[in-house]
Amino acid sequence: MSLIRRIDLRGADAASVDYRASVPRAEFDVEAATHQVQPILDAVRARGVEAITDFSARFDGVRSDDIAVPREALTTALEALDPAVRAGLEESIRRLRATCEAELERDVTSQVAPGATVTHRKVPIDRVGLYVPGGLAPLVSSVVMNVVPAQVAGVRSIALASPPQKDRGGLPEPTILAACALLGVDEVYAVGGAQAIAMFAYGAGPCARVDLVTGPGNIYVAAAKRLLRGVVGIDSEAGPTEIAILADDSAEAAFVAADMVSQAEHDPMAASVLVTDSLELADAVEAELDKQVFATRHTERIRTALGGRQSAIVLVDDMDQGVAVVDAYAAEHLEVVTRDAAAHAARVRNAGAIFVGAWSPVSLGDYCAGSNHVLPTAGCACHSSGLSVRAFTKSVHVIDYSRDALAEVADHVVTLAEAEDLPGHGQAVSVRFDSDRSRR
Ligand code: NAD
Repeated sequence: MSLIRRIDLRGADAASVDYRASVPRAEFDVEAATHQVQPILDAVRARGVEAITDFSARFDGVRSDDIAVPREALTTALEALDPAVRAGLEESIRRLRATCEAELERDVTSQVAPGATVTHRKVPIDRVGLYVPGGLAPLVSSVVMNVVPAQVAGVRSIALASPPQKDRGGLPEPTILAACALLGVDEVYAVGGAQAIAMFAYGAGPCARVDLVTGPGNIYVAAAKRLLRGVVGIDSEAGPTEIAILADDSAEAAFVAADMVSQAEHDPMAASVLVTDSLELADAVEAELDKQVFATRHTERIRTALGGRQSAIVLVDDMDQGVAVVDAYAAEHLEVVTRDAAAHAARVRNAGAIFVGAWSPVSLGDYCAGSNHVLPTAGCACHSSGLSVRAFTKSVHVIDYSRDALAEVADHVVTLAEAEDLPGHGQAVSVRFDSDRSRR
Protein backbone atom coordinates (compact mmCIF):
# COMPACT_ATOMS: atom_id res chain seq x y z
CA MET A 1 0.00 0.00 0.00
CA SER A 2 1.22 3.47 -0.90
CA LEU A 3 2.60 5.79 1.80
CA ILE A 4 0.96 8.82 0.24
CA ARG A 5 -2.40 9.32 -1.46
CA ARG A 6 -2.96 10.67 -4.96
CA ILE A 7 -5.31 13.39 -6.11
CA ASP A 8 -6.01 13.34 -9.84
CA LEU A 9 -6.88 16.76 -11.24
CA ARG A 10 -6.19 15.84 -14.86
CA GLY A 11 -9.00 16.95 -17.09
CA ALA A 12 -10.30 19.45 -14.53
CA ASP A 13 -10.10 23.13 -15.29
CA ALA A 14 -10.18 26.14 -13.01
CA ALA A 15 -13.65 27.11 -14.29
CA SER A 16 -15.22 23.81 -13.19
CA VAL A 17 -13.08 22.85 -10.19
CA ASP A 18 -12.17 24.97 -7.17
CA TYR A 19 -8.47 24.15 -6.88
CA ARG A 20 -8.32 25.70 -3.41
CA ALA A 21 -10.89 23.17 -2.20
CA SER A 22 -9.18 20.29 -4.06
CA VAL A 23 -5.67 20.66 -2.64
CA PRO A 24 -4.75 18.57 0.41
CA ARG A 25 -5.29 20.10 3.85
CA ALA A 26 -5.06 18.76 7.40
CA GLU A 27 -8.25 17.73 9.18
CA PHE A 28 -7.11 19.23 12.50
CA ASP A 29 -6.46 22.81 11.47
CA VAL A 30 -5.67 26.09 13.23
CA GLU A 31 -9.36 26.89 13.63
CA ALA A 32 -9.97 23.53 15.36
CA ALA A 33 -7.00 24.08 17.68
CA THR A 34 -8.30 27.48 18.84
CA HIS A 35 -10.89 25.67 21.00
CA GLN A 36 -8.10 23.96 22.96
CA VAL A 37 -5.96 27.05 23.10
CA GLN A 38 -8.45 29.69 24.31
CA PRO A 39 -8.60 28.30 27.88
CA ILE A 40 -4.78 28.36 28.01
CA LEU A 41 -4.72 32.03 27.03
CA ASP A 42 -7.46 32.88 29.53
CA ALA A 43 -5.63 31.10 32.33
CA VAL A 44 -2.31 32.87 31.64
CA ARG A 45 -4.10 36.20 31.52
CA ALA A 46 -5.81 35.53 34.84
CA ARG A 47 -3.12 33.66 36.79
CA GLY A 48 0.18 34.58 35.08
CA VAL A 49 3.23 32.50 35.97
CA GLU A 50 1.21 30.11 38.13
CA ALA A 51 -0.81 29.07 35.07
CA ILE A 52 2.33 28.88 32.90
CA THR A 53 3.91 26.55 35.44
CA ASP A 54 0.83 24.31 35.37
CA PHE A 55 0.86 24.10 31.57
CA SER A 56 4.59 23.38 31.47
CA ALA A 57 3.99 20.50 33.88
CA ARG A 58 1.10 19.20 31.75
CA PHE A 59 2.56 19.59 28.24
CA ASP A 60 6.33 19.53 28.77
CA GLY A 61 6.55 17.34 31.88
CA VAL A 62 8.51 20.01 33.81
CA ARG A 63 7.44 22.05 36.83
CA SER A 64 9.54 25.10 37.71
CA ASP A 65 8.34 28.40 39.15
CA ASP A 66 11.36 30.16 37.70
CA ILE A 67 10.58 30.76 34.04
CA ALA A 68 13.47 33.19 33.39
CA VAL A 69 16.63 31.50 32.16
CA PRO A 70 19.65 32.64 34.24
CA ARG A 71 22.32 34.55 32.27
CA GLU A 72 25.01 32.10 33.43
CA ALA A 73 23.13 29.28 31.69
CA LEU A 74 23.38 31.20 28.40
CA THR A 75 27.11 31.82 28.79
CA THR A 76 27.78 28.22 29.83
CA ALA A 77 25.85 26.91 26.82
CA LEU A 78 27.87 29.08 24.44
CA GLU A 79 31.14 27.92 25.98
CA ALA A 80 30.08 24.29 25.52
CA LEU A 81 28.79 24.76 21.96
CA ASP A 82 30.25 22.39 19.35
CA PRO A 83 32.60 24.54 17.18
CA ALA A 84 31.11 23.10 13.98
CA VAL A 85 27.58 24.09 15.08
CA ARG A 86 28.91 27.52 16.00
CA ALA A 87 30.51 27.90 12.54
CA GLY A 88 27.21 26.90 10.91
CA LEU A 89 25.29 29.40 13.00
CA GLU A 90 27.78 32.16 12.22
CA GLU A 91 27.45 31.55 8.48
CA SER A 92 23.65 31.48 8.77
CA ILE A 93 23.73 34.76 10.72
CA ARG A 94 26.10 36.38 8.21
CA ARG A 95 23.94 35.54 5.20
CA LEU A 96 20.65 36.50 6.82
CA ARG A 97 22.10 39.75 8.15
CA ALA A 98 23.22 40.67 4.62
CA THR A 99 19.69 40.27 3.20
CA CYS A 100 18.13 42.06 6.19
CA GLU A 101 20.45 45.04 5.79
CA ALA A 102 19.67 45.22 2.08
CA GLU A 103 15.91 44.97 2.71
CA LEU A 104 15.73 47.57 5.47
CA GLU A 105 13.54 50.41 4.25
CA ARG A 106 14.73 54.00 4.60
CA ASP A 107 12.64 57.08 5.37
CA VAL A 108 11.00 58.62 2.31
CA THR A 109 10.10 62.32 2.13
CA SER A 110 7.68 63.50 -0.57
CA GLN A 111 7.35 67.19 -1.40
CA VAL A 112 3.69 67.41 -2.47
CA ALA A 113 3.71 71.20 -3.03
CA PRO A 114 6.10 74.03 -2.15
CA GLY A 115 6.49 74.04 1.66
CA ALA A 116 4.47 70.83 2.05
CA THR A 117 6.18 67.58 2.90
CA VAL A 118 5.06 64.13 4.01
CA THR A 119 7.73 61.85 5.40
CA HIS A 120 7.20 58.11 5.63
CA ARG A 121 9.33 57.47 8.71
CA LYS A 122 10.33 53.92 9.59
CA VAL A 123 10.37 53.18 13.31
CA PRO A 124 11.52 49.92 14.92
CA ILE A 125 8.98 48.14 17.14
CA ASP A 126 9.93 48.83 20.79
CA ARG A 127 9.68 45.39 22.37
CA VAL A 128 9.25 41.99 20.72
CA GLY A 129 8.67 38.41 21.88
CA LEU A 130 10.32 35.75 19.73
CA TYR A 131 9.16 32.13 19.80
CA VAL A 132 11.59 29.29 19.13
CA PRO A 133 10.10 25.78 18.85
CA GLY A 134 11.47 22.99 20.99
CA GLY A 135 8.81 20.29 21.23
CA LEU A 136 9.93 17.63 18.75
CA ALA A 137 13.21 19.22 17.68
CA PRO A 138 15.32 22.06 19.14
CA LEU A 139 15.08 24.60 16.32
CA VAL A 140 18.25 26.56 17.01
CA SER A 141 17.99 27.96 13.47
CA SER A 142 14.76 29.71 14.51
CA VAL A 143 16.77 31.76 17.02
CA VAL A 144 18.75 33.16 14.09
CA MET A 145 15.66 33.66 11.89
CA ASN A 146 13.87 35.66 14.62
CA VAL A 147 16.70 37.59 16.24
CA VAL A 148 18.74 38.77 13.24
CA PRO A 149 15.95 40.74 11.50
CA ALA A 150 14.83 42.18 14.86
CA GLN A 151 18.34 43.40 15.59
CA VAL A 152 18.92 44.81 12.10
CA ALA A 153 15.59 46.66 12.37
CA GLY A 154 16.84 48.28 15.59
CA VAL A 155 14.39 46.72 18.08
CA ARG A 156 15.39 47.92 21.57
CA SER A 157 14.02 45.12 23.73
CA ILE A 158 14.06 41.45 22.69
CA ALA A 159 12.60 38.58 24.74
CA LEU A 160 12.73 34.98 23.55
CA ALA A 161 10.85 31.87 24.69
CA SER A 162 11.34 28.17 24.02
CA PRO A 163 9.85 25.10 25.75
CA PRO A 164 11.45 23.80 28.95
CA GLN A 165 13.07 20.38 28.55
CA LYS A 166 12.66 17.82 31.30
CA ASP A 167 16.10 16.29 30.69
CA ARG A 168 17.70 19.76 30.87
CA GLY A 169 16.54 20.73 34.34
CA GLY A 170 13.61 22.67 32.90
CA LEU A 171 15.75 24.91 30.67
CA PRO A 172 15.42 25.06 26.87
CA GLU A 173 17.88 23.04 24.76
CA PRO A 174 21.50 24.19 25.25
CA THR A 175 22.03 24.86 21.51
CA ILE A 176 19.11 27.32 21.66
CA LEU A 177 20.60 29.03 24.71
CA ALA A 178 24.02 29.13 23.04
CA ALA A 179 22.57 30.78 19.92
CA CYS A 180 20.91 33.40 22.14
CA ALA A 181 24.26 34.13 23.80
CA LEU A 182 26.00 34.26 20.41
CA LEU A 183 23.52 36.92 19.28
CA GLY A 184 23.59 38.83 22.58
CA VAL A 185 20.01 38.04 23.62
CA ASP A 186 19.85 37.69 27.39
CA GLU A 187 16.11 37.81 28.20
CA VAL A 188 15.12 34.20 27.66
CA TYR A 189 12.15 32.27 29.08
CA ALA A 190 11.70 28.52 29.47
CA VAL A 191 8.09 28.56 28.30
CA GLY A 192 6.56 26.76 25.32
CA GLY A 193 3.43 26.59 23.22
CA ALA A 194 0.33 28.76 23.53
CA GLN A 195 1.27 29.75 27.08
CA ALA A 196 4.45 31.42 25.76
CA ILE A 197 2.46 33.47 23.25
CA ALA A 198 0.02 34.47 26.02
CA MET A 199 2.92 35.42 28.31
CA PHE A 200 4.25 37.74 25.61
CA ALA A 201 0.84 39.23 24.81
CA TYR A 202 -0.36 39.87 28.37
CA GLY A 203 2.91 39.94 30.31
CA ALA A 204 3.45 37.52 33.20
CA GLY A 205 5.84 37.57 36.17
CA PRO A 206 9.28 38.73 35.02
CA CYS A 207 8.19 39.03 31.37
CA ALA A 208 6.75 42.45 30.54
CA ARG A 209 4.21 42.46 27.73
CA VAL A 210 5.58 42.89 24.22
CA ASP A 211 4.32 44.83 21.19
CA LEU A 212 4.90 42.10 18.60
CA VAL A 213 5.21 38.30 18.69
CA THR A 214 7.04 36.46 15.91
CA GLY A 215 8.27 32.97 15.23
CA PRO A 216 7.21 29.53 14.10
CA GLY A 217 5.54 26.80 16.11
CA ASN A 218 3.13 23.91 16.07
CA ILE A 219 -0.64 24.11 15.59
CA TYR A 220 -1.18 25.36 19.18
CA VAL A 221 1.32 28.18 18.73
CA ALA A 222 -0.33 29.15 15.42
CA ALA A 223 -3.79 29.06 17.04
CA ALA A 224 -2.58 31.26 19.93
CA LYS A 225 -1.23 33.78 17.44
CA ARG A 226 -4.54 33.83 15.60
CA LEU A 227 -6.48 34.40 18.83
CA LEU A 228 -4.14 37.08 20.20
CA ARG A 229 -3.74 39.12 17.00
CA GLY A 230 -4.86 42.61 17.99
CA VAL A 231 -3.97 42.20 21.66
CA VAL A 232 -0.45 42.04 20.29
CA GLY A 233 1.02 42.30 16.79
CA ILE A 234 1.91 39.02 15.11
CA ASP A 235 4.08 38.26 12.10
CA SER A 236 2.07 35.46 10.44
CA GLU A 237 0.56 32.10 11.31
CA ALA A 238 3.77 30.13 10.86
CA GLY A 239 2.43 26.72 11.88
CA PRO A 240 3.18 23.10 10.91
CA THR A 241 5.52 23.02 7.95
CA GLU A 242 4.45 22.48 4.34
CA ILE A 243 6.39 21.77 1.19
CA ALA A 244 4.86 21.78 -2.26
CA ILE A 245 7.00 20.72 -5.21
CA LEU A 246 6.00 21.58 -8.76
CA ALA A 247 7.95 19.16 -10.93
CA ASP A 248 7.98 17.79 -14.47
CA ASP A 249 9.71 14.73 -15.89
CA SER A 250 13.08 16.49 -15.78
CA ALA A 251 13.12 16.29 -11.98
CA GLU A 252 15.26 13.74 -10.13
CA ALA A 253 12.88 11.50 -8.16
CA ALA A 254 15.41 10.87 -5.39
CA PHE A 255 15.82 14.62 -4.79
CA VAL A 256 12.07 15.25 -4.83
CA ALA A 257 11.43 12.43 -2.35
CA ALA A 258 14.28 13.58 -0.06
CA ASP A 259 12.82 17.09 0.04
CA MET A 260 9.33 15.73 0.85
CA VAL A 261 10.85 13.64 3.65
CA SER A 262 12.88 16.59 4.95
CA GLN A 263 9.79 18.64 5.74
CA ALA A 264 7.63 15.71 6.86
CA GLU A 265 10.34 15.18 9.50
CA HIS A 266 9.19 18.34 11.34
CA ASP A 267 5.84 17.21 12.63
CA PRO A 268 3.26 14.43 12.14
CA MET A 269 1.06 17.32 11.00
CA ALA A 270 3.55 18.55 8.37
CA ALA A 271 2.45 18.47 4.73
CA SER A 272 4.40 17.25 1.69
CA VAL A 273 2.72 17.77 -1.66
CA LEU A 274 4.06 16.93 -5.12
CA VAL A 275 2.28 18.51 -8.09
CA THR A 276 3.35 16.95 -11.38
CA ASP A 277 2.24 16.30 -14.94
CA SER A 278 4.45 13.22 -15.14
CA LEU A 279 2.99 9.87 -14.12
CA GLU A 280 6.49 8.38 -14.39
CA LEU A 281 7.85 10.91 -11.89
CA ALA A 282 4.90 10.28 -9.54
CA ASP A 283 5.60 6.52 -9.59
CA ALA A 284 9.35 7.03 -9.17
CA VAL A 285 8.89 9.43 -6.23
CA GLU A 286 6.54 6.98 -4.55
CA ALA A 287 9.15 4.23 -4.91
CA GLU A 288 11.83 6.55 -3.55
CA LEU A 289 9.66 7.50 -0.57
CA ASP A 290 9.26 3.81 0.25
CA LYS A 291 13.05 3.49 0.36
CA GLN A 292 13.94 6.77 2.03
CA VAL A 293 11.30 6.92 4.75
CA PHE A 294 12.48 3.67 6.27
CA ALA A 295 16.14 4.66 6.10
CA THR A 296 15.74 7.84 8.12
CA ARG A 297 15.70 8.54 11.87
CA HIS A 298 12.13 9.78 12.41
CA THR A 299 10.32 7.15 10.36
CA GLU A 300 7.09 7.11 12.35
CA ARG A 301 6.67 10.88 12.37
CA ILE A 302 7.36 11.05 8.62
CA ARG A 303 5.01 8.16 7.79
CA THR A 304 2.23 9.89 9.72
CA ALA A 305 2.85 13.20 7.94
CA LEU A 306 3.01 11.64 4.46
CA GLY A 307 -0.01 9.42 5.14
CA GLY A 308 -2.16 12.28 6.50
CA ARG A 309 -4.91 14.15 4.62
CA GLN A 310 -2.51 17.08 4.33
CA SER A 311 -0.05 15.27 2.02
CA ALA A 312 -0.54 13.99 -1.54
CA ILE A 313 0.81 13.57 -5.02
CA VAL A 314 -1.39 15.73 -7.24
CA LEU A 315 -1.53 14.84 -10.94
CA VAL A 316 -2.12 17.66 -13.42
CA ASP A 317 -2.34 17.85 -17.22
CA ASP A 318 0.50 20.30 -17.75
CA MET A 319 2.54 23.02 -16.09
CA ASP A 320 -0.12 25.69 -16.72
CA GLN A 321 -2.52 23.71 -14.56
CA GLY A 322 0.34 22.94 -12.17
CA VAL A 323 1.07 26.63 -11.64
CA ALA A 324 -2.65 27.29 -11.03
CA VAL A 325 -2.82 24.47 -8.47
CA VAL A 326 0.26 25.52 -6.47
CA ASP A 327 -0.99 29.10 -6.55
CA ALA A 328 -4.29 27.95 -5.05
CA TYR A 329 -2.46 25.86 -2.44
CA ALA A 330 -0.28 28.85 -1.38
CA ALA A 331 2.42 26.67 0.17
CA GLU A 332 4.73 27.78 2.92
CA HIS A 333 7.63 26.43 0.82
CA LEU A 334 7.34 25.90 -2.91
CA GLU A 335 10.05 24.17 -4.92
CA VAL A 336 9.88 24.52 -8.69
CA VAL A 337 11.82 21.75 -10.40
CA THR A 338 10.92 21.96 -14.07
CA ARG A 339 12.76 22.58 -17.33
CA ASP A 340 11.71 26.24 -17.17
CA ALA A 341 11.95 26.55 -13.40
CA ALA A 342 12.66 30.29 -13.23
CA ALA A 343 9.84 31.09 -15.69
CA HIS A 344 7.33 28.87 -13.87
CA ALA A 345 8.41 30.28 -10.49
CA ALA A 346 7.90 33.83 -11.77
CA ARG A 347 4.24 33.02 -12.52
CA VAL A 348 3.47 31.88 -8.95
CA ARG A 349 1.96 34.60 -6.76
CA ASN A 350 1.12 32.70 -3.58
CA ALA A 351 3.90 31.02 -1.59
CA GLY A 352 5.84 31.82 1.57
CA ALA A 353 9.15 31.25 -0.23
CA ILE A 354 9.96 29.86 -3.67
CA PHE A 355 12.98 27.64 -4.28
CA VAL A 356 14.03 27.54 -7.93
CA GLY A 357 15.63 24.49 -9.54
CA ALA A 358 17.28 21.34 -8.24
CA TRP A 359 20.07 23.16 -6.42
CA SER A 360 17.90 25.31 -4.16
CA PRO A 361 16.30 22.80 -1.79
CA VAL A 362 14.10 23.90 1.12
CA SER A 363 16.69 22.59 3.61
CA LEU A 364 19.08 25.26 2.33
CA GLY A 365 16.44 27.87 3.19
CA ASP A 366 15.90 26.28 6.60
CA TYR A 367 19.46 27.17 7.59
CA CYS A 368 21.81 29.05 5.34
CA ALA A 369 20.26 30.54 2.17
CA GLY A 370 20.13 34.06 3.56
CA SER A 371 16.32 33.96 3.35
CA ASN A 372 14.05 33.61 6.39
CA HIS A 373 12.51 30.25 7.32
CA VAL A 374 9.62 31.68 9.37
CA LEU A 375 6.86 31.52 6.77
CA PRO A 376 3.04 31.54 6.60
CA THR A 377 1.26 28.18 6.46
CA ALA A 378 -2.22 26.71 5.85
CA GLY A 379 -2.91 28.90 2.82
CA CYS A 380 -2.02 32.16 4.62
CA ALA A 381 0.67 32.86 2.01
CA CYS A 382 -2.08 34.37 -0.16
CA HIS A 383 -2.23 37.32 2.27
CA SER A 384 0.81 37.12 4.59
CA SER A 385 4.56 37.32 4.10
CA GLY A 386 7.44 35.49 5.65
CA LEU A 387 9.33 37.07 8.50
CA SER A 388 11.72 39.83 7.45
CA VAL A 389 13.35 42.95 8.81
CA ARG A 390 10.23 44.84 7.70
CA ALA A 391 8.05 42.92 10.17
CA PHE A 392 10.02 44.56 12.99
CA THR A 393 9.42 48.11 11.83
CA LYS A 394 6.32 50.21 11.51
CA SER A 395 5.90 53.46 9.68
CA VAL A 396 4.67 56.87 10.76
CA HIS A 397 3.62 59.63 8.38
CA VAL A 398 5.10 62.97 9.47
CA ILE A 399 3.22 65.92 7.94
CA ASP A 400 4.93 69.30 7.81
CA TYR A 401 3.18 72.25 5.99
CA SER A 402 4.10 75.92 6.00
CA ARG A 403 1.42 78.63 6.34
CA ASP A 404 1.47 79.27 2.59
CA ALA A 405 1.25 75.59 1.80
CA LEU A 406 -1.81 75.19 4.05
CA ALA A 407 -3.39 78.32 2.53
CA GLU A 408 -3.01 76.83 -0.92
CA VAL A 409 -5.10 73.78 -0.09
CA ALA A 410 -7.42 75.31 2.56
CA ASP A 411 -10.45 75.73 0.27
CA HIS A 412 -10.33 72.08 -0.72
CA VAL A 413 -10.22 70.99 2.93
CA VAL A 414 -13.21 73.21 3.80
CA THR A 415 -15.21 71.95 0.81
CA LEU A 416 -14.51 68.30 1.54
CA ALA A 417 -15.34 68.80 5.23
CA GLU A 418 -18.72 70.35 4.24
CA ALA A 419 -19.35 67.40 1.89
CA GLU A 420 -18.94 65.09 4.87
CA ASP A 421 -21.16 67.27 7.07
CA LEU A 422 -18.22 67.88 9.38
CA PRO A 423 -17.99 71.71 9.39
CA GLY A 424 -15.72 71.71 12.45
CA HIS A 425 -13.03 70.10 10.32
CA GLY A 426 -13.21 72.99 7.85
CA GLN A 427 -13.32 75.57 10.63
CA ALA A 428 -10.10 74.14 12.11
CA VAL A 429 -8.39 75.27 8.91
CA SER A 430 -10.24 78.51 8.17
CA VAL A 431 -9.78 79.80 11.73
CA ARG A 432 -6.07 80.01 11.03
CA PHE A 433 -6.68 82.51 8.23
CA ASP A 434 -9.15 84.85 9.98
CA SER A 435 -7.60 88.27 9.27
CA ASP A 436 -7.54 89.42 12.93
CA ARG A 437 -5.84 86.22 14.06
CA SER A 438 -3.42 85.83 11.23
CA ARG A 439 0.00 86.76 12.56
CA ARG A 440 2.22 86.08 9.54
P1 NAD B 1 6.68 23.83 19.61
O1 NAD B 1 7.68 24.49 20.48
O2 NAD B 1 6.04 24.63 18.54
O3 NAD B 1 5.50 23.25 20.49
C1 NAD B 1 5.75 22.61 21.69
C2 NAD B 1 4.74 23.09 22.69
O4 NAD B 1 3.42 22.74 22.26
C3 NAD B 1 4.87 22.51 24.04
O5 NAD B 1 5.74 23.29 24.84
C4 NAD B 1 3.46 22.53 24.59
O6 NAD B 1 3.29 23.64 25.40
C5 NAD B 1 2.58 22.68 23.37
N1 NAD B 1 1.66 21.55 23.26
C6 NAD B 1 1.96 20.27 22.98
N2 NAD B 1 0.85 19.52 22.97
C7 NAD B 1 -0.18 20.34 23.28
C8 NAD B 1 -1.60 20.15 23.43
N3 NAD B 1 -2.16 18.96 23.24
N4 NAD B 1 -2.35 21.22 23.73
C9 NAD B 1 -1.80 22.44 23.90
N5 NAD B 1 -0.46 22.66 23.76
C10 NAD B 1 0.32 21.63 23.47
O7 NAD B 1 7.44 22.56 19.02
P2 NAD B 1 6.99 21.39 18.05
O8 NAD B 1 5.79 20.68 18.60
O9 NAD B 1 8.21 20.61 17.77
O10 NAD B 1 6.54 22.10 16.75
C11 NAD B 1 7.40 22.89 15.97
C12 NAD B 1 6.57 23.29 14.80
O11 NAD B 1 7.12 24.41 14.14
C13 NAD B 1 6.42 22.20 13.77
O12 NAD B 1 5.05 22.05 13.46
C14 NAD B 1 7.17 22.74 12.58
O13 NAD B 1 6.68 22.26 11.37
C15 NAD B 1 6.90 24.21 12.77
N6 NAD B 1 7.76 25.12 12.04
C16 NAD B 1 7.15 26.04 11.28
C17 NAD B 1 7.89 26.95 10.59
C18 NAD B 1 7.19 28.00 9.78
O14 NAD B 1 7.81 29.01 9.49
N7 NAD B 1 5.95 27.81 9.39
C19 NAD B 1 9.28 26.97 10.70
C20 NAD B 1 9.89 26.03 11.51
C21 NAD B 1 9.12 25.10 12.20
